[in-house]
Parts: sequence; structure tokens; C-alpha cells
Amino acid sequence: MLKVIKTGLIYLCSVALAVAIVMLVKFTNNYGLNPKEVYKVYLDGKSVGNIANKQELEEYINEEQKELKEKYLVDKVYIPTGVDIQKCTTYEKQVLTAKQVHNLIKEEKPFTVKGYKITIKPLTDEEEKITINVLDKKMFDRALKSVVEAFVSEEQVKNYENDTQPEIKDTGSIIEDIYIDQDITIKKGYISTDEQIFTDEKLLTKYLLFGDLKDDQYYTVKEGDTIDSIAYDHKLATAEFLVVNPEFTSSNNLLSVGQQVKVGLIAPIVDVVVESHTVLDQESQYKTTTEYDANMSAGLQKVEVEGQNGVDRLTTKLKTVNGETTNVVIVNRDVITPSVDKVVKVGTKVYGGATAPIMSGSWAWPTISQYYISSYFGYRWGKIHEALDIAGSGEGSPIFAAGSGTVVTSQNKGSLGNHVTINHGNGYYTLYAHMHSRLVQVGQTVEKGQQIGTMGHTGFATGTHLHFGLYKNGLPYRDGIPMDPMILYR
Ligand SMILES: [Zn+2]
Repeated sequence: MLKVIKTGLIYLCSVALAVAIVMLVKFTNNYGLNPKEVYKVYLDGKSVGNIANKQELEEYINEEQKELKEKYLVDKVYIPTGVDIQKCTTYEKQVLTAKQVHNLIKEEKPFTVKGYKITIKPLTDEEEKITINVLDKKMFDRALKSVVEAFVSEEQVKNYENDTQPEIKDTGSIIEDIYIDQDITIKKGYISTDEQIFTDEKLLTKYLLFGDLKDDQYYTVKEGDTIDSIAYDHKLATAEFLVVNPEFTSSNNLLSVGQQVKVGLIAPIVDVVVESHTVLDQESQYKTTTEYDANMSAGLQKVEVEGQNGVDRLTTKLKTVNGETTNVVIVNRDVITPSVDKVVKVGTKVYGGATAPIMSGSWAWPTISQYYISSYFGYRWGKIHEALDIAGSGEGSPIFAAGSGTVVTSQNKGSLGNHVTINHGNGYYTLYAHMHSRLVQVGQTVEKGQQIGTMGHTGFATGTHLHFGLYKNGLPYRDGIPMDPMILYR
């Protein structure tokens, strides 16, 4: 019984306490903490926060608009849509500053300006599409034109556009087409000011040409420097140096000590394609014929007739992408000066088991006579091109072994495509890549001038050509030292 009463009392007390607390809360609400008049800020119907002063927020918005107008030199900056400010009475303690609410709105929905969204569609699935924001469409057009003029002179572009290209007298070029390979779409719309917006033509040109906005790299000219030597030291082809430094027109231009030149690598965002009808003179390599003399000691050799290179005048259809030749069709070949074969007499008389050395300086050209060297051994945008690219002989035209030896590779693999490597036994290896077909097998011995395959564009090749490499003391891309194949023919 006693226990029951005790429990009841505790219960009563608890109720009384609860009532007291409720009363206290009510009392303080009504008379202690006054309800506040605040402004509730909504963005697209969702509450962003409360602010005490509506005007203060409006001032922040106005100030932001003003700054953006000055930054982009525009008449109108659009504030985020869907902002709603409502006056209300609340007991909520949290009130944000107008600045905090302003920043929260901006993060969610940036201010916008009217402009153009330019989309550059990549040529392959592996590359990402690029979008560029500009306010002035014509500014983009001008920047793109500057990129084109990095590869074709302003005068050439003008003559092409006005149909005033001079006729070719001896050698020269008539542009048949200039275009950007990528699809470019331009859409008018509202551009978020938290994205990069290009307003400077020079900066946009730089971005289109170099692929980024990093600071220019400069080199200060020293005594004895030439355009060729500076380009080489910075892993650029001379033509590439001239692209980066358009104030120079040829590698013969004079430099002055202390002068600053640009040495950065370009990586254009677009591909500038130029198709032309080009007539040019090209050295034709002399051939070497060997006469064996059984009365002369092995190891001895005598030049009977000095070889002399000739000159071929080639009429071609050339396609270049960002200054690099990717396709060539030789339409006509005129021999201006015939080459003179070099005749070497080689002794074969062997004493006491000595072996005759394998001839150097007696190499066959790996293609038929109608050819065009589309890329030489040397640097191309920071990477060494370890070969000679020989084009123009046509898909399926024969490829010959440059010298006698043993086939050590014959496969279709990787970026080289169908390729053959020959060990010439004198420390030299030659490589023949991108072939359409191979006619030899590993272990087979081949004679100088023997057909080993046909020209093609297998593997990573932009057009039909032979990628002809020479390596010393080892296999290509292993321990072999890449050498300029032209040394075989000098
Ligand atoms: Zn190549």
C-alpha cells in the first residue's frame, strides 16, 4: 500500500514539473525571446537561409553584377533565376549574414552573361571534347584564323580566299583546300561566370595553339646560335620553331645575341588541314654498284666512280596536318639532273682464312624511284622521329632490303604495323614499318635490293608511307642506337 502511494506521488510530481516547464517555455517565448522579423531567402523553392536585412543582400548582388560587367565589358549580367525573398516572423535563432547567403546562391547557381559556347568535337573516341566560352563570336573566328596562319602564311590564306594564287612557274604550291578537321559547333546562350570565358583574342589563340595557357618558354640567344641549333636543342624541328616564332620566315634568318625566342612545344587543339598542288625539287639518291676483283685483297676497296645525287622535280598532291605531311601522291616526276652511280671495286682475295668485311657505303634505296620524303630523322614536337618517312610510291609498291642480311623480325604488331627488321651483320639493323604486306620470314637471308614487302599504312600511320629506320649495335627500340638512315646514302 505504502509503495503504491509513493509511486503516485512521484507521478504527480513529474506531471507538475512537466507543466511548469511548458509554462516556462511559453512565458519566455512570449515575453523573453521576441520572435524576429527576418527575410527567408529561397532558391528554386528551397530555403537558403535567413537574413536580417534584405537590402544588404541586394547590394551584394548589385555589386557582383557591377564587377562582372567590368570584368567582361558587358552591359548585362544575369542574376541567378529562382531567387525569392520573403519576409517572415520566426523564432529560429540562426540568421546568416547577407554575404553568406549571397555566396551560397552563387555556389548553387552562378551569375551568367550572354555569349557563345563553342564545342570542338574530337576526331577519336579517346579524346575528350573541348568547350570554349566566348562573348564575341568574331573574336573566336579571328583566333582560329591566327592558328591557321601558324601553318600557312597570311598572304597564302588571302590569295587562297580571293582566288589570286600565283601560278607555279618552276616550283611552288597552290592551295586547293584549307579546313579544320574537327567539327566545331557554336551555340548562343547564357554562360556561367564561374567557367573560363575568353575575352582576349591573343590568349584564346595561345590556348588553341598550345593546348594550355602556361607561360611562354623563352630562350636567350647566345653567340654562335642558329635557328637550327636552338630548335634542335629544344627538341623542335626547324619548321616547328618557325611556327612558334612567326617573326622568322626561314632558318637562315639572323639572330642577335641576347634576343629572346620562344621554344615551347605546341599541341594544337584543332587540326589545320592544308591540301595543295605542290611542285618541288628533291635530291635523288645515287646508287652504288660494286664490282668484285679477285686480284685485290679482301678488305680493300677503291672508288672507281664518285657517286653524285641528282635532282627530281616532283609534282605532288600534298596533305599536311598542322604542318606535318600526312599524305602525298606524286603526279609527275621529271629528272632535272640525273644521279651518277657510284662504282666501287671491292677486293675478294682472301689470305689465310680472313673474312671479307661487309661493305658499308653500299646500300640500296628501300623504295622505287618515285618517292617523296615526308619526314626526316629528327625532332618532331619534343619527340625524336627515329626514321625516314618515305611516301608517294603508292600503296602496294615494292619495299626492298637496303642491304644484305638476316631477317630478325617479321610481324604485324603495335604501332609499327606490318614490319620487318634486318640484321646486316656489320652492326647495323634496318627497320621497315607500316607495310601493306610482308614477303619474308624470320631467319631468312635476304640480298641487298631484294623485295621484302609492299608499302602500306598498317599500325599507327596517318598515310601510306614507309617508316624506314636504321639502328646501330642492337635491335630497334631495344638496345639499338637510332641513326639517320640518310647516312647510308652519303
Ligand atoms: Zn615515321
